[in-house]
Amino acid sequence: MPSNEGPHVLQAVPRVLVIGGSYSGLAATVNLIDLCNGKQPRFTSTPSDVVSSKSKLPVDITIVDERDGYYHLIGNPLAFASDDAASKSWTRFQDIPALKLPNVNFLQGSVASIDCENKAVSIVDTVTKQYRQGKYDYLLVASGLRRTSPVVPQALNRDQFLAEAKSHTKAVRDAKEGVVVIGGGAVGIEMASEIKTIEPWQKVTLVHSRDKLLSAEPLPDDFKDRSLETLRETGVEVILGQRVTETTAVQSDGEPTSWNLTLSSGQHITAGHVIAAISRSTPTSSYLPPAALDKDGYVKIDASLRFNSDVPNASSHFAAGDIASWSGIKRCGGAMHMGHYCAINIHQDMLKNRYGQIPTYKELSFFPNIMGLAVGKKAVVFDSTNGTASGEDQMAAYFGNDLANSICWNYMKLGQAVAV
Ligand SMILES: Cc1cc2nc3c(=O)[nH]c(=O)nc-3n(C[C@H](O)[C@H](O)[C@H](O)COP(=O)(O)OP(=O)(O)OC[C@H]3O[C@@H](n4cnc5c(N)ncnc54)[C@H](O)[C@@H]3O)c2cc1C
Repeated sequence: MPSNEGPHVLQAVPRVLVIGGSYSGLAATVNLIDLCNGKQPRFTSTPSDVVSSKSKLPVDITIVDERDGYYHLIGNPLAFASDDAASKSWTRFQDIPALKLPNVNFLQGSVASIDCENKAVSIVDTVTKQYRQGKYDYLLVASGLRRTSPVVPQALNRDQFLAEAKSHTKAVRDAKEGVVVIGGGAVGIEMASEIKTIEPWQKVTLVHSRDKLLSAEPLPDDFKDRSLETLRETGVEVILGQRVTETTAVQSDGEPTSWNLTLSSGQHITAGHVIAAISRSTPTSSYLPPAALDKDGYVKIDASLRFNSDVPNASSHFAAGDIASWSGIKRCGGAMHMGHYCAINIHQDMLKNRYGQIPTYKELSFFPNIMGLAVGKKAVVFDSTNGTASGEDQMAAYFGNDLANSICWNYMKLGQAVAV
């Protein structure tokens, strides 16, 4: 918990508050740890990433998250189809080797408000439900988007999550009349194909209201067509151009045993389990002053990831990941890259304040639209340089064999303890 004592200018140790311990928040944390240990940030991959100063600096980092751990969100379609994958998807913060440091603290809570002028935070502790107040010198807003179940788990701790994932996989397994997934966006496609891959005997149908899958995505038709073709190859039945207008429970002994779905064409289909993969995601930014947000609730940032608004102390307030208003389809890779740059810019600021060093800030460039979709054993990917590609080789490169759980974990080096 950040200290609530004393004006921040007198603090010898800068206090960094990170809201959200997922891809962007953890990427910022681990890279800032490196920088403050006098090392190059671990995400350094090109000569242009190399930072000038190697001085050690004291820092105190607090991560506040509603959850008690890091959840590999990308892997949710697999975690909700396989108990084994679920158990590897959620790691309590206290169990992450790279974060076991005396100057890295965790607080399980939901940020209720931020006072930019006084650099003060109010947090509702998840466990005690009590309000806690604190102060910070730098804030990183990395709390992403609010999404509904089963697109993301609603559990806030690991044990509850395992129970939630288990009840989902059981419902899928027990669905004698097959599974219907409603919604042909990225999540619906991945959920349908993961179920079919893990339980090949199960009948899986995906219903989408438009004539093409991924209809809301700013991506070329050949990517959408390839995704459809690959999804059908997995054995998922796809119904396009039909809305589900009614879902009625078929009861036996007062318990729903299956569902009767009416489509806009009048056609009826039966399902043992229905998954609504139509999640309207909304930014989790309600704790920030409205002036910091754009009309849709995303945090306005400049290229150095600082708040781009006239809120007080905007230059020590940063935002990264899905919650930030920036170009491109929201992606985990982009979120981690933003976290990396936040770490560098916060560190440059600290050096300026401590040693008067002239800062060199990193600036984000435009993010093009990129998408990688795991569809059964293959991935379908699009980027503006190479266009659409698909295959098992793409799957290995983009997702490995665990929907990128190991790729993300290893990229952030979360398994490696830091020598102090
Ligand atoms: C099912 C699914 C599959 C996906 N697949 C891919 C993929 O294959 N490739 C890809 O690149 N991207 C994928 N994405 C998108 C990717 O997951 C996001 O871009 C990424 O999670 C963004 O990371 P983030 O750190 O910004 O936020 P998030 O990962 O959303 O994390 C936000 C964190 O903040 C916490 N939080 C929220 N509100 C508060 C609060 N008020 N106080 C405290 N803590 C709070 C949450 O508990 C969470 O831990 C997928 C998304 C979903 C839902």
